[in-house]
Amino acid sequence: MHVVPAPDALLEALDPEQRAAVEAVSGPVCILAGAGTGKTRTITHRAAYAVATGAVAPSALLAVTFTARAAGEMRTRLRQLGVEGVQARTFHAAAMKQLGYFWPKAVGGAPPNLLTNKFQMVANAAARARLRPGTSEIRDLLSEVEWAASTLTAPEDYVARAAGRGLPFEAADVAAVYAAYRDLKTAQGLADFDDMLLYTAGILEEHQDVAAEFRDRYRSFVVDEYQDVTPLQQRLLDAWLGDRQDLCVVGDAQQTIYSFTGATPQYLLGFRRRFPQATEVRLVRDYRSTPQVVELANGVLSAVPEKLELHAQRPEGPAPRFEEHTDETAEADAVASRCRELIRSGVAAAEIAILYRINAQSAGYEAALTNAGVPYVVRGGERFFERPEVREAVLLLRGQARAGDADLPEALPDAVASVLAVRGWTAEPPASSGAVRERWESLAALHRLALDLSDMTLTEFVAELDERATAQHAPAAAGVTLASLHAAKGLEWDAVFLVGLVDGTLPLVHADTTEQVEEERRLLYVGVTRAREHLSLSWALARAPGGRQTRRPSRFLDGLVRGVVSKAPPPRAPRAARGSAPVTCRICAAVLNAAVDKKLGRCAGCPSDRDEALFEQLREWRADRARGLGQPAYCVFTDATLAAIAEQLPTDVAGLVSIPGIGQSKLDKFGDEVLALVSSRA
Ligand code: ATP
Ligand code: MG
Repeated sequence: MHVVPAPDALLEALDPEQRAAVEAVSGPVCILAGAGTGKTRTITHRAAYAVATGAVAPSALLAVTFTARAAGEMRTRLRQLGVEGVQARTFHAAAMKQLGYFWPKAVGGAPPNLLTNKFQMVANAAARARLRPGTSEIRDLLSEVEWAASTLTAPEDYVARAAGRGLPFEAADVAAVYAAYRDLKTAQGLADFDDMLLYTAGILEEHQDVAAEFRDRYRSFVVDEYQDVTPLQQRLLDAWLGDRQDLCVVGDAQQTIYSFTGATPQYLLGFRRRFPQATEVRLVRDYRSTPQVVELANGVLSAVPEKLELHAQRPEGPAPRFEEHTDETAEADAVASRCRELIRSGVAAAEIAILYRINAQSAGYEAALTNAGVPYVVRGGERFFERPEVREAVLLLRGQARAGDADLPEALPDAVASVLAVRGWTAEPPASSGAVRERWESLAALHRLALDLSDMTLTEFVAELDERATAQHAPAAAGVTLASLHAAKGLEWDAVFLVGLVDGTLPLVHADTTEQVEEERRLLYVGVTRAREHLSLSWALARAPGGRQTRRPSRFLDGLVRGVVSKAPPPRAPRAARGSAPVTCRICAAVLNAAVDKKLGRCAGCPSDRDEALFEQLREWRADRARGLGQPAYCVFTDATLAAIAEQLPTDVAGLVSIPGIGQSKLDKFGDEVLALVSSRA
């Protein structure tokens, strides 16, 4: 049995404005407020208060949130406030549940099955429309079909409505694909998520008996993140509501970040016009972030007219850190090691987030965190190893490794590059953006990993990839969150890293119009306002190590950057002496070509002069380290590398990195220990 909360106790946890919204238990309510001002907290308390005062039965309340996770969080918070039985769902989940119940009554039989592979269906539709799009174009076509559905645009109206959308397709072609998609779906008795919303709304609109039953059951509605509602979702909301007014919406127009999917803040901003008697509440006290974070958040929007300025409530905290790096690898490594420091200093890993603009950026951070031994979870977007292009590339690499001749004579990065080249990958990024670019980025990340692990053979590399792919599937409840800025909305962490903040990534290159650029600015605002205390903003001047440093920090940071820490080019290990002086045999002075020979520093046939005792010591040390890291031994160093160390007896960093394959990350992690072992033998 649960205890019904005391209404007064619920009110005491709120400030006067929040309280006003909570006390308006019925009737239209609109909360317009900036990030971290307690909108979500207010609607949770409002629901609990309505139940506690008996104004609404818990089962008559339907709360709609943006993601399944947010819905789950709201249920948890309500339970903590002593309220059970309130429905908190996403629009989609609510519609699915209702359709399952109402379809048999209204239409008869079972509702259509959910179309699970939209991508394939769009591909088939494109073929029917006599188009031959590539993988990335199919993805773009799919987004366009989704936009049309969200904005209630029928295939017949598409051409007229799509004017000015600046797409790389003929509008008539998209319309043809969209129509074929709809027909194929119907013919197979399938429905996608958007159809489910539309069907639910349609049944409520057309069947008075069903609508009456529904409206008897659900009496009060609340919508979080209302600034990002689509016309399709609004239509469903209207169907739920009928001519009633028990609706509470909360949102922040400055956090509108889903316009590209058809969402619009117009419903939020026009709420008062639609319900002139609505209780309207504005909140400005920021309870989430330190004054330092709040000041930066206000700064990001300083050029925006009519924004709501935030007022910090929390005690002082550290100043936001601005870091400039030479390249993306250095940036990711620095962020990973800073995460490690924070965790050591007592911040829980689950209270740290690394946020980026596009999902492809996760790869570099997944690798850097793995190297640093920091657990992580990827939120939203596909995990790196689950992306189709990565899976395909790993398959190809495995095939090549099995072919057996792959471990010699090419160095690993070259071997990987030639396999990726089979799939059309080149070292130079494509000029285009979007799906093509994301695909290129994924493969580039595999190549960068090969550069980092260049002391491995291809077989070992493939084993390493498998290892990493499975490690990711392991539940990592206590990991650092990797998420796109889009997936981060509504959430908060003690420490937030906003990474890759260069012009071209934020704003994204293809943000052409003023509206698109402004939406990108709001993404930065969403990012900044996720942080409670520690906030770090970073960018890299070049993409890859050694690349030309031609990028500039995001224009949204102009005038805001203070005390920037410019990371001097790190003492980067020279890469495997490629393109420079030839490597020669220590014993006979012949030029070495094979990777194994280069690693040994002598011809395989020349006599070895290695220090056997040191070799054994190194192996023991490696076993110990590998156990500690929970990784296979070869992830620390391969036998060939240990043998080379025991032969060449490097005495300093330069000596160590001259052993081909000892890259920067290994140097950082193990360099000192190895040098100490060698010098103790000497
Ligand atoms: P966003 O726009 O990012 O979704 P929000 O307006 O929904 O933010 P919440 O997540 O509800 O903000 O609140 C931000 C943080 O401030 C939470 O940790 C919440 O518990 C805390 N908070 C909100 N209001 C109060 C209050 N009156 N007293 C103390 N803490 C509060
Ligand atoms: Mg919120």
